[in-house]
Amino acid sequence: MENQRLGRLVLVIYPLQGHATPVLQLGDVLHSKGFAITIAHTRFNPPNPSNHPHFSFLLLPDNLPYSDTSQTPSVDDFEAINRDCHAPLQELLELKEQRVDCQVVGIIFDSLMYFAATVADHIKIPRLVFMTSNAAFYQAFAAIPRLMAEGFFPFQDSMLHEIVPQQYPLRFKDLPVLRENMDMMQKLIDLASNFQKFSAIILNTVDFLEQSSLLQLQQQYQVPVFQVGPLSKLAPAISTSFLKEDSNCIAWLDNQTANSVLYVSKGSLSMSDSKELTETFWGLANSGQSFLWVVRPGSVSGSEWTEVLPKDFKEIIGERGLIVKWAPQKEVLTHSAVGGFWSHCGWNSTMESLSEGVPMICSPQFFDQKVIARYITHEWKVGLELDGELERGGIERCIRTLMVGKNGAEMRERATELKQMTSVSIHEGGSSYNSLIELTEFLLANNI
Ligand code: UDP
Repeated sequence: MENQRLGRLVLVIYPLQGHATPVLQLGDVLHSKGFAITIAHTRFNPPNPSNHPHFSFLLLPDNLPYSDTSQTPSVDDFEAINRDCHAPLQELLELKEQRVDCQVVGIIFDSLMYFAATVADHIKIPRLVFMTSNAAFYQAFAAIPRLMAEGFFPFQDSMLHEIVPQQYPLRFKDLPVLRENMDMMQKLIDLASNFQKFSAIILNTVDFLEQSSLLQLQQQYQVPVFQVGPLSKLAPAISTSFLKEDSNCIAWLDNQTANSVLYVSKGSLSMSDSKELTETFWGLANSGQSFLWVVRPGSVSGSEWTEVLPKDFKEIIGERGLIVKWAPQKEVLTHSAVGGFWSHCGWNSTMESLSEGVPMICSPQFFDQKVIARYITHEWKVGLELDGELERGGIERCIRTLMVGKNGAEMRERATELKQMTSVSIHEGGSSYNSLIELTEFLLANNI
């Protein structure tokens, strides 16, 4: 019975894949701890209720200027969403309170849905911010105002490869700076400066990976920080994909030998052009390695899907390669045939890869991905950097190094160690296990 639960938590999701997935997973985990869960979401990219029959859902009228649901709100739309969803959420929650269903004991919101904090204040319940990237990124981002004040911005191209003072291992080129959109950058800096006003911070990370960044975040914001990752391992394996997953690739993987396949995916937002797609294709084809490649429809400018590839591309790659539109990624990464992941280094993909012991090729495109890629290659040492303009020869060499080279074998060994350490952290006595208990206690104790 829902009204016998510890209380209701309202989780407010932002309608991007990499944002919605970990919040839905957190909802599943907190439901298993005894809370009733309500997911507040926009019209765009709504979660699929049939995948979460134990949740209730609140639809927020976002008023975004999109005419059909195949368009995805951009990150920049967050201001409009925050303006338009505030009153509806407040009204819906006040109505819910009157129905004496199960008392709302807290709001957990994606950091881009900050309007929810004011709603929580209004109904006098704790407001917890969920940060969808990793601790090192937020810590680097928090350092940017200081770096600006110290005169490092705008930095010259000649400084790109220098280490940023007090930010090892980050170079200037790895800093999460939107150089082409400083307006947006300023808005995000203002947003981050509010984090200390929230009741607590929740991150999908693991203590042993980011101990020093987590400590610095705690010192900076002076609120409890709960690290409850990897959520992909703690939550049940329920699909949270907005796009239809092509499960046929699992049968294809079943026919491949252990560690022989490179999985290639650049996430839900990244874009490329026809040259990059063609170079990637030839790099994969010439590498001689097997590969499972996700090409998201609409992700190549000017094309619907893979039209720019050679007409006989299927004959060229034969049985050795498979291209799909969207994969059941978590299942793919657990498959024993997968021996490497060429990724854009989104935080969810990274956590999914690290917790399955899969070493990576890192091609970050922007913002937090650059910080994450640097940590993968230089802190955790489980990946190779493939940066800059993609070209078939460089791709081929990088793939061979990861899949069959000595360096790659060492990274695979190290990734296996991280997988084991991650597994320890989510079991009884482990850091994420304990942090989840502390989060539950916090939610119950801070019921104001
Ligand atoms: N994903 C998936 N199938 C794919 C590609 C990606 O299920 O073919 C999932 C992946 O497992 C991850 C999310 O989409 O949970 C992408 O989030 P991430 O933070 O890695 O990157 P973003 O899409 O936000 O750039």
